[in-house]
Amino acid sequence: MNQFENVKQALRGQPKTWLVTGCAGFIGSNLLETLLKLDQIVIGLDNFATGHQRNLDEVRETVGAERWSRFTMITGDIRDMAVCQVATKKVDYVLHQAALGSVPRSIKDPNTTNEVNISGFLNMLTAAKDAGVKSFVYAASSSTYGDHPGLPKIEDRIGKPLSPYAVTKYVNELYADVFARCYGFKATGLRYFNVFGKRQDPHGAYAAVIPKWIDAMISGGDILINGDGETSRDFCFIDNVVQANILAAMAEESAKGEVYNVAVGDITTLNELVTSLREILAENGIRYEKKSVYRDFRAGDVRHSQADISKAACKLGYVPTHRIHDGLKTAMAWYIANR
Ligand code: NAD
Repeated sequence: MNQFENVKQALRGQPKTWLVTGCAGFIGSNLLETLLKLDQIVIGLDNFATGHQRNLDEVRETVGAERWSRFTMITGDIRDMAVCQVATKKVDYVLHQAALGSVPRSIKDPNTTNEVNISGFLNMLTAAKDAGVKSFVYAASSSTYGDHPGLPKIEDRIGKPLSPYAVTKYVNELYADVFARCYGFKATGLRYFNVFGKRQDPHGAYAAVIPKWIDAMISGGDILINGDGETSRDFCFIDNVVQANILAAMAEESAKGEVYNVAVGDITTLNELVTSLREILAENGIRYEKKSVYRDFRAGDVRHSQADISKAACKLGYVPTHRIHDGLKTAMAWYIANR
């Protein structure tokens, strides 16, 4: 299937106005790029806590001046209710991505993660409800499955959260559910599973494993694996996440107000991931031959994660276009070109 075929069908007709929070970050900037390429009007909101101006600059260069002129940036903080009210005015669809990610960051500083991810989320939800937006889609997380041992992960079978970050993402779901009950305002949660792709930050203490390892391999650094390397994940390429967001925003009423897994349905161990990265790097003429360095398991990490994506497939028409290998090839090309 063409990358955005089902999305284009959903977007037939007049351009709509979208608010993308966290638009200077990894996922937000990819949403921004696709929406502008699809000739939509986009408002972005970000405080640049973990996002970068260079991500916005790259989108501007990619989409060209005319499409870029349909974008308005608001620099502000979702913890400020007045900012959220301004941002949601005259908006059709909200894609709420702004949050502080990372399990270890939340363990180090649970209060700030709580303020941004829960109070900020509640501000956005309230502002969007009061503004009467057509759809509110938010970034939920696979961390909500917590200590539930079942595989694959099915939306209504969750365990206890294993980190403050997981608590915040679960509380988002609880608030979304209560807003539907109390106000009839339906917000749709997308539980992302380990997303990767271009513009994901490889630097800093809280970088995700794929960009961090690609960066280490290109620069000849060490691959540090927490645990024995048999920890597994359902790694999800960014284009699949973009597709799910747009489909969820355009979904019919009966599909809104739910939570959906957004992944591929595959399972890859960290050891397998390292092997794939070495192979793809070698195809690009870069040989990385250092052995991986194993260290202790990390607090708060889930051992295995694999999604059942049948609910999103059935109710949203979600069909992932990239499995991990295709996504890694595309991401690798970007990381090599953007060193
Ligand atoms: P990111 O850090 O690249 O993007 C988050 C963006 O939100 C950044 O641009 C940051 O500056 C902005 N932001 C943070 N605090 C803010 C505030 N108070 N006000 C306004 N903007 C603020 O992270 P990402 O990977 O793009 O994640 C996007 C969303 O997806 C987050 O909600 C995250 O929890 C969720 N998520 C991501 C993954 C993943 O694998 N990347 C997995 C599950 C869920």
